[in-house]
Amino acid sequence: MAEFKVPKSHPRYWSLYYRHKIEEALEKGILAKAGTIAHGRGEAFDYLIGEKTIEPAERAMRTAVAKLLLAEHPVVSVNGNVAALVPKETIELAKSLGAKLEINLFYRTEERVKAIEKALREFDPDVEILGINPTKRIPNLESERGKVDEEGIWKADVIVVPLEDGDRTEALVAMGKFVITVDLNPLSRSARMADITIVDNIVRAYPKMIEIAEELKGKPKEELEAIVKGYDNAKTLSDVLIHMRNRLDALSKEGIWRRREI
Ligand code: ATP
Ligand code: MG
Repeated sequence: MAEFKVPKSHPRYWSLYYRHKIEEALEKGILAKAGTIAHGRGEAFDYLIGEKTIEPAERAMRTAVAKLLLAEHPVVSVNGNVAALVPKETIELAKSLGAKLEINLFYRTEERVKAIEKALREFDPDVEILGINPTKRIPNLESERGKVDEEGIWKADVIVVPLEDGDRTEALVAMGKFVITVDLNPLSRSARMADITIVDNIVRAYPKMIEIAEELKGKPKEELEAIVKGYDNAKTLSDVLIHMRNRLDALSKEGIWRRREI
C-alpha cells in the first residue's frame, strides 16, 4: 500500500487520511468491499452535520457511557470499519468501561475475523477478544450474520454496535438487549431502532466517550441512573434533524459559493 502523502495543509486532510485508512483496511482483508460504500455514506452525512460533534450527540454519548458503567455485562462490538478507523480507541473505550470486546461481522469470514484480531493486537497483544469462535446465534437472522459469542453479546445486557446494519440492530433489540449505536445517518434503520443513537463520526465519538468514561467512572450509581433516566432518544433524533435543517437553512441564506469554510 502506498504511503499517505497528503500535506497537513490540505483543506480536506482528515477526510483523506481516514479514506486512506479505509483503503488500507480493504487491502489487509479487514474490510469487506461494502464497508467502503458505508464509509462514503457516513462522510456525506458528516457534511450535513458540519463535521463536528453536535450537542444531541454529546448528550447521547454521556447517557451511553452512564448506561454502560451501570451494566452487568457490557460489550463493545467491533466490525471492519471500526477496526479500520479506531482500533486503538475501541480497546481503550472497552477498558475504561470494563466492557468486553467482540468481533461481530455482517459479512463474516474467518479470514476477516483473523485480520481484525491482528489489527487490534497491534495495539495490545494481550487484549481479550471475543467473537473468534462464536457458538450462539441471534434469533431470526440467517447463519453468518447471526453468530455471537456466548460470553459476549449473547449474555450482554448493554451493547455498543457502531456502524451497524439496521436489520441486525433490530434483531438485537428484539433479543432484549439495550443497544447503543454510533451512526452518522440519523435516518438509517440502525439509528431509528437503537435505544441510544450517537449521530457522530466514530473518529470523534470514541475519544470523547473515553473522556466521559474517565469522568463518570467514580460517580455514585444514583448519579449515573439519573443521567439515564432523563434521556429521550426520540428527542435526540429529532434534535439532530433540526440541527441539519437549521444548518442547511442558514447556509442557503448566507450562500456557500466560493466560501472556503462552511
Ligand atoms: P440501515 O441501518 O438502514 O441498514 P445502512 O444500510 O446504511 O443502514 P450499514 O451500511 O450496514 O447500514 O451501516 C453503516 C452505517 O454507518 C451507515 O448508516 C453510515 O452512515 C454509518 N457510518 C459510516 N461511516 C461512519 C463513521 N465513520 N462514523 C459513524 N457512522 C458511520
Ligand atoms: Mg443496512
